[in-house]
Amino acid sequence: MPLLIKNGNIVTAETRYRADIYIEDETITRIEEKLSAPPGTEVIDAAGKLVFPGFIDPHVHIYLPFMATFAKDTHETASIAALVGGTTTFIEMCCPSRQDDALEGYQLWKQKAEGNSACDYAFHMSVTKFDDKTTSQLRQIVADGTASFKIFLSYKNFFGIDDGEMYQTLKLAEKLGVITTAHCENAELVSQLQQELLVAGKIGPEWHEPSRPETVEAEGTNRFATFLEHTGATGYVVHLSCAPALKAAVDAKLRGVKLSVESVLPHFLLDKTYAERAGVEGMKHVMSPPLRDKRNLSALWSALRAGLIDTVGTDHCPFDTTQKLLGKDAFTQIPNGIPGIEERVNLMYTYGVKRGSLDLHRFVDALSTRAAKLFGLFPRKGAIAVGSDADLVIYDPDYRGTISASTQHVNNDYSGFEGFAIEGRPAAVTVRGKVQVRDGAFVGEKGRGKFLRREPQYGAAHAS
Ligand SMILES: [Zn+2]
Repeated sequence: MPLLIKNGNIVTAETRYRADIYIEDETITRIEEKLSAPPGTEVIDAAGKLVFPGFIDPHVHIYLPFMATFAKDTHETASIAALVGGTTTFIEMCCPSRQDDALEGYQLWKQKAEGNSACDYAFHMSVTKFDDKTTSQLRQIVADGTASFKIFLSYKNFFGIDDGEMYQTLKLAEKLGVITTAHCENAELVSQLQQELLVAGKIGPEWHEPSRPETVEAEGTNRFATFLEHTGATGYVVHLSCAPALKAAVDAKLRGVKLSVESVLPHFLLDKTYAERAGVEGMKHVMSPPLRDKRNLSALWSALRAGLIDTVGTDHCPFDTTQKLLGKDAFTQIPNGIPGIEERVNLMYTYGVKRGSLDLHRFVDALSTRAAKLFGLFPRKGAIAVGSDADLVIYDPDYRGTISASTQHVNNDYSGFEGFAIEGRPAAVTVRGKVQVRDGAFVGEKGRGKFLRREPQYGAAHAS
């Protein structure tokens, strides 16, 4: 059935105007003033609402065996949570460990998502070792439509790779024209600092941050940038959390390194005092890089406003309180991660746009359009234009509510943002022209989501 969205205030990364949007066969086919609906058209009146392109979360974990357990969401629960919060596409980290076969891992992740996601999705392929098979396997994975890699400079012996493997991965990425995303820390320093703290009896969650301090992240960021510089590859720092790492990334951008920067929701709103709370309350806020000293928050907001931080993701990674308690005798055993896929848009709108810290267009850019462009989804996603997929968020800026685990759709028994007020939420969300959410409830079709194939777009081979 065709869909007509009337009287909306369309807001994209560049512009704002009043027009109606007509959708046929999953695609936007007309954007004009005062369109009339042919018989049989479903009509949504968007008067008083903002109409955004569907938001894109460029960094989530859904299926994830990690730290002796599994993250709690399924693709069904995470995608419904995403949609209720206005996110219509996510890019999941496909994360086989060093012990796993990369191609088998890739197939496993795809299988887990296939037919189970209510929104569209893609993957970043983690390169967690570089051996004889890696080049041909990664070529196959890129040919299958997964045109971005992920590397970890942390999590030694599990996901982490050494500098030689990073060099080989970036050389290959450059040759294939794909972008490489990186978790930037110094694995050796983290490992040494963790052991020293534990030996000294410092075992609580408040010691997680001191075990991976800001300088350790800045070093990883600078090292990644230096390797990009010497390989000519294109890179993307994930979940940058602090001013010293930001300085390393901006210095690299200024000297011409092809580097983009993502920060994630928790680092804009929470500081390390959350992880310093006693017992499981602190453990709920253990993630890596860790929550930082409060002085970093204003630096991140300024950089986001200025576009020096390109995108805002979540690093969505839910572990429940029982799982968090695996680390009750040692902070190094607390599963790292916090959910956020459902809250990102509303919290960044409230504490960014409404509080005057973020321009409305930069908000759309950072939470949708920039990720679409960087990861080969634009203009299919991240745009409101004739020919684009009809992924739309009809947003009610007058809604008032409070975040609570008791009403969330994420499969977890806590929210890291419990009690935060929100000023705005999606009134309706469409995925390729089908209404999937109305007023905070999932009303659509489970399993509607499709795997998004992406083409390589970087490097000399793909220069336009
Ligand atoms: Zn992550």
